[in-house]
Amino acid sequence: MEVDLSSGLPGMAIVGLADTAIRESRDRVRAAVINSGLDWPNRKITIGLSPATLPKHGSGYDLALAVGVLAASEQLPAGAAEKFLFLGELGLDGRIRAIRGVLPAVMAAATGGHQQVVVAADNGSEAQLVGDADVWIGATLAEVVAFLRGDQEGQRPAPEAQRPQLEVQDLVDVVGQAAGRLALEIAAAGGHHLLLTGPPGAGKTMLAERLPGILPPLTDAEALEVTAVHSLSGNLPRGSPLIRRAPFESPHHSATMPALVGGGSPMARPGAISRAHRGVLFLDEAPEFGRGLLDSLRQPLENGEVSLHRAAGVSTFPCRCQLILAANPCPCAPATGDADCGCSSMARRRYADRLSGPLLDRVDLQVSLPAVSRRALLDGDVQRETSAAVAARVVRARAASAARLSAWGRHMNSDVPGAVLRERLRLPRPALISAELALDRGLLSVRGFDRVLRVAWTLADLAGLSSPGGAEVDAAVGLRLRRIG
Ligand SMILES: [Zn+2]
Repeated sequence: MEVDLSSGLPGMAIVGLADTAIRESRDRVRAAVINSGLDWPNRKITIGLSPATLPKHGSGYDLALAVGVLAASEQLPAGAAEKFLFLGELGLDGRIRAIRGVLPAVMAAATGGHQQVVVAADNGSEAQLVGDADVWIGATLAEVVAFLRGDQEGQRPAPEAQRPQLEVQDLVDVVGQAAGRLALEIAAAGGHHLLLTGPPGAGKTMLAERLPGILPPLTDAEALEVTAVHSLSGNLPRGSPLIRRAPFESPHHSATMPALVGGGSPMARPGAISRAHRGVLFLDEAPEFGRGLLDSLRQPLENGEVSLHRAAGVSTFPCRCQLILAANPCPCAPATGDADCGCSSMARRRYADRLSGPLLDRVDLQVSLPAVSRRALLDGDVQRETSAAVAARVVRARAASAARLSAWGRHMNSDVPGAVLRERLRLPRPALISAELALDRGLLSVRGFDRVLRVAWTLADLAGLSSPGGAEVDAAVGLRLRRIG
């Protein structure tokens, strides 16, 4: 940002593809400067934002604009502001307000060699997550000016509060549903997408919500990635902003395309699929989303990122997430899961068809859950496993697959290319009997065959086997073929 003061009609012009919010900041910044007891130069002010070809948007430039004008009018010592990056919106009274997207902005600044940053007090702990950054905070413009003049010590953000992250829900609360629990464990171990079909009350949502709790905690690099996406969405908790757990996003079926995959203007914001990055995207009552919306998820899931084109530029957000789809057995959603609900077979078929197609084709695990029986509910004596116990097996299985797949640059069985699966990781014929039979009968497509093999490898990793045998392949075929309707 460059600021020039010249003789001429007093006023302020901002050049360099600034959006409306920045042009409006003229009045905000002027009021903030005057209300902070500083002088607003009665001259012609020209602000240049460079590079001039790149669109700038948002109110985060306010603080820098104010400091620039004060420096140009010699109310700050020469050069005092130059080594700092200023990020923050100004209130009319000179207060500095937090903005969205501080984490990715500071990451980019530090990478570009600008380590010294000044942000709003409420953004301090978020900016501090960037290891290379040297972060200062200011509550008001007057405070920042006093700091730059050397009249006052700079303020540092408080160290990240070590309060525990949100309590995750535990598998110990799930009654019955052995098949559902197993499917969840396999999904976690191999990174597989999962479809749960069953009557309302069978526990589909309960199970889905417990997937983050059995996924490995995020690595430091992953935690920063995930937190950066949530910073752009503006929904980070204050105090301890770093997200260390796999996130869980469950958009409603009335969600729009921009809400789901990202959108908005002038610059796009991440959608639910990106907020679920390194975590879980749960679509309850999946058939209600409609084919178009579901199919729009396929490409982003395949690429691991979503690019949104706007007049102001292209935004690319990561979206490596695990998908869980939940569906009722038929449109009337009978509580018992019985076939005698009165829905015609035509109606059932139409309902199931809303899910079929390219997205469902990518879902390795398709499991139907029975209604929870009275006996299971009353049977309090049964020892149920905790999430911690399951998570320990998941970590071991993931270590096994990562060691085997590192040669191809992969970590999880769900990522293995079909060619590698069929040639380099080829299984002996006898192990494949049930899968080949299903293929011959047309129950499995060639792609479905690959998916069965991926799940079989995950089952082997969970069982501590060096490779899957007939039992694992049989089980994987079963997990693929139990379909809705
Ligand atoms: Zn029905």
